[in-house]
Amino acid sequence: MIKLRDRLPVRSFTRQYSSYRSYKPYLSEDFNNRCGYCDDFDGWVGGERTYHIDHFAPKSKFSSLENEYSNLVYACPFCNRFKSNDWPSDDHTVSFIDNKGYIDPCDERYEAHFYRDTYGNIRPNNELAEYMRKKLQLFLSRHRIIWNLTRIKIELDRIKPLLDKHKHDDEKFNRIKDIYFQLSMEFQDYLNYLLGEKLKNG
Ligand SMILES: [Zn+2]
Repeated sequence: MIKLRDRLPVRSFTRQYSSYRSYKPYLSEDFNNRCGYCDDFDGWVGGERTYHIDHFAPKSKFSSLENEYSNLVYACPFCNRFKSNDWPSDDHTVSFIDNKGYIDPCDERYEAHFYRDTYGNIRPNNELAEYMRKKLQLFLSRHRIIWNLTRIKIELDRIKPLLDKHKHDDEKFNRIKDIYFQLSMEFQDYLNYLLGEKLKNG
């Protein structure tokens, strides 16, 4: 089974600001430039400026938490908008009741709720995860595409130096070249898919 995320986000920033917006550069770093909910890397879609700051416990319900770093999640615009001010209780410490609500992406338990299938789709492990998947629309193809772009890019970067290393060994060189070519084609397909989707959605 493939893990949802390679690295867990950790809120390590400790200074206090009077506006939550000031935290963005630290938040993006703490979240490894990935959306806390879907793990989409921001680099494929315009970087930090296109990502949002989500209030885990919504600021519309819990205004005292508006500028609390411990309540902030680096989020892609999709997850942030779909989550909106949904919250299952009147208590900011109660983030889920029965199978409705949310797990904080920095909570280690987040990992156990989801996995990825071999195509990169985000799959739920239980009913609470299914609630989150539906609310946040984690089934959108963009999450699969962005995960694959990241995966293939890492693989291409790993393979490329091997071409040079084995340039005097025809058999090896050709084998690596074929793999590199296949991956490049796949990468191009995913990129076109992402750009096409972007063009359609404006
Ligand atoms: Zn997201």
